[in-house]
Amino acid sequence: MVPFEFLVPDTLDEAVALLDPDDPGIRPVGGGTAIMLMMKAGVLAPTRLVSLQRIEPRWSEIRVDAAGALVIGGRTRLAALEHHPEVRRGWPVLARTLRTLSNVRVRSVATIGGNLAHADPHLDLPPVLSALGASVTVVGPNGRRTVAVADLCTGYFETVLARDELICEVTVPPQRGPASYMKVTTRAAHDWPALGLAVALDADAAAGTIRSASIYIGAATDRPTRLVAAEALLAGASADDATLRRAGEAAAAEIDIVGDPHGSAPYKCHLLRVTLGRAVRNALAHAGRVA
Ligand SMILES: Cc1cc2nc3c(=O)[nH]c(=O)nc-3n(C[C@H](O)[C@H](O)[C@H](O)COP(=O)(O)OP(=O)(O)OC[C@H]3O[C@@H](n4cnc5c(N)ncnc54)[C@H](O)[C@@H]3O)c2cc1C
Repeated sequence: MVPFEFLVPDTLDEAVALLDPDDPGIRPVGGGTAIMLMMKAGVLAPTRLVSLQRIEPRWSEIRVDAAGALVIGGRTRLAALEHHPEVRRGWPVLARTLRTLSNVRVRSVATIGGNLAHADPHLDLPPVLSALGASVTVVGPNGRRTVAVADLCTGYFETVLARDELICEVTVPPQRGPASYMKVTTRAAHDWPALGLAVALDADAAAGTIRSASIYIGAATDRPTRLVAAEALLAGASADDATLRRAGEAAAAEIDIVGDPHGSAPYKCHLLRVTLGRAVRNALAHAGRVA
């Protein structure tokens, strides 16, 4: 292994100052779960790693703000998010999704900031957070800016983040309606998904009618992708078999699905057709329940 610096600053501002917008060999480290794998695989040979493990504790806190939004510090471990009582009560789709994300060893170490910055199109959280309308606060040498999670990824392992910017906070609006995430794996249940489908509804769950839907697909395109044709079909509709079938067909027709080792493009296309209706039914069935 090529020697590299490992720096552990005490503050977020110091961490930003140790990054370099022009040097791809300098990387921040959250939990290190993705970075270590990339280094072992030989696709990353850093000259400097800037660990965020010692920065101010506020960047690993979880709270609900005055507007009722969930505010998650960028260094928050995924396991802390999964078990937090406010998350299980107010954002049950997040807690349920996290239970299927890899295993407890990864969740105990990985951070939400590292997860979103990694931008692997197979990640489970980005489609869910996108469907919920979440945003990230990004800090850099020139201050802070806000980016919708839906706009964060620009392609395979690519984001809008500059090399000297850090995700310091994630804000999730109140989960007002039923939501679900369907993770379809071809091996173990906690494996990387062949397809991930997140649905957040504004609906009358008892009557089975949908006022509006926000739907994002993961693991089938180069970034989490919104399914606008399926959303339009479900808006103002009743969640009956015929409508859900039509919405699944519309979803499969509206995007170019990419195959990978988890499944061919036609296979994923078929998964999408059948999973969309299941995701809507699942959301309606869980309406009003805590995780
Ligand atoms: C065995 C295994 C199985 C997995 N299975 C799944 C799965 O089923 N589903 C799933 O969704 N994920 C899965 N993962 C991926 C896992 O979710 C990610 O590795 C993890 O979330 C990355 O978080 P981290 O804090 O460890 O990131 P790191 O490894 O520390 O960093 C990842 C990237 O983000 C950058 N970065 C880190 N923190 C920040 C920050 N605050 N701001 C800006 N950039 C930052 C780093 O420079 C690096 O480029 C799996 C991982 C492993 C090891």
